[in-house]
Amino acid sequence: MKAEVVSIGSELSSGVRLDTNGQWLAAQLAQIGVDVIYHSTVADDLPANLDVFRHAQSRADLVLVTGGLGPTKDDLTREVLAEVAGVPLEFHEPSLQWIESIFKMFNRPMPERNRVQAMFPVGSEVITNPNGTAPGIWLMAGNACFVCLPGVPREMKPMFTDWVVPRLRQEFSLGEVIVHRTIRCFGAGESQIEEMLGDLTKRGRQPEVGITASEATISLRVTAKGANPEQAQQLIEPDARFIYEKLGELIFGEDDVELHHAVAKALIKKNVTISTAESCTGGMLGQMLTDTPGISQVYLGGYVTYSNDLKINLLGVPADILSRHGAVSEECAAAMAKNCRERTGSDLAVSITGIAGPDGGTPEKPVGLVYVGLASSSEVKVRNFKWGNDRKSTRVRAAKMALNLVRLQLLRQDC
Ligand code: AMP
Ligand code: MG
Repeated sequence: MKAEVVSIGSELSSGVRLDTNGQWLAAQLAQIGVDVIYHSTVADDLPANLDVFRHAQSRADLVLVTGGLGPTKDDLTREVLAEVAGVPLEFHEPSLQWIESIFKMFNRPMPERNRVQAMFPVGSEVITNPNGTAPGIWLMAGNACFVCLPGVPREMKPMFTDWVVPRLRQEFSLGEVIVHRTIRCFGAGESQIEEMLGDLTKRGRQPEVGITASEATISLRVTAKGANPEQAQQLIEPDARFIYEKLGELIFGEDDVELHHAVAKALIKKNVTISTAESCTGGMLGQMLTDTPGISQVYLGGYVTYSNDLKINLLGVPADILSRHGAVSEECAAAMAKNCRERTGSDLAVSITGIAGPDGGTPEKPVGLVYVGLASSSEVKVRNFKWGNDRKSTRVRAAKMALNLVRLQLLRQDC
């Protein structure tokens, strides 16, 4: 079955807004075995919409449309669909009642224009919208099945998942389902990880294993096809086991889990308190840690000491460390972490000091050089790293390096 995704709206065609619906729908359709082979984006313009709908009708079996179902004059989807199907629009009383009930709920009179949202091309099935006024439309027009959904992602997504997917399964004998499992790692480079996995990431292999990197987080996505989700999951299992065997401690989580979530959860689970002392990341590490609900149980807080003065006055870093070794040094990172731990009374303390750039580098201390410290009850560890000249990237990676140090500490010993 060939599918086309049509995204309607002048805000999309003009580049004001990104078409995220098209991306989301194509990914969802792939998972149920429907290949999307065309994407069209079209402005709120009647002739252009007719053209796109007719084209889609002639070349696709399934046409998934989002947008243009609102009550205003630039919302043309109903009209265009009726024209392409060669049928008139008819009134659907239950939809009007639904729309009226929504206005009642907000204590507002329903504008007359909203009546148009209860008009459907003859032969349509109405797709109810639990989160808004615009119902969706399911209509066979010639050889193509049109599914029209509202553009608002919050409304469109549950309608697709709860109504359209089961209906597609019932109506068409869909291809194999596609299931992904993503295993996420930190602490080694992309090519190093690829090498550790031998032939696993070879193209054309089944299941397919893809490797991607984002700010030093490496994701291995295993993709398998099967007659049903359970069968596809089973195909993934041996590869997942192999990846865990080979990569061990490099793995911090799966699917949507970010490094900072994994670390925060581990701290909470083990009830290990932590505090932070940051220079070049300016509080980013604290922000990352506090992204996880429940972190107040273990995160005591942090120092953001950007200047040398504050490193001395707030954190008690000895002035002679700064004059002898500089703020970006192993000694400074160690003193920051050690003093932070002592002053806050936390089990662990992490520190970050580095040169984010683009200026301020020297031959001995180039831009991108970062020291990360970790103080625990038994020792103070410092690691250093050197990345490129990109300020944003260096700062994010520095925070992640600090998080990873904490993660490994929690894995290896109780703190
Ligand atoms: P509409 O259903 O055309 O009235 O769209 C309502 C709103 O949904 C638009 O103003 C956009 O903010 C959003 N929207 C519509 N289409 C898309 C799309 N393809 N991707 C992301 N957002 C969209
Ligand atoms: Mg629109």
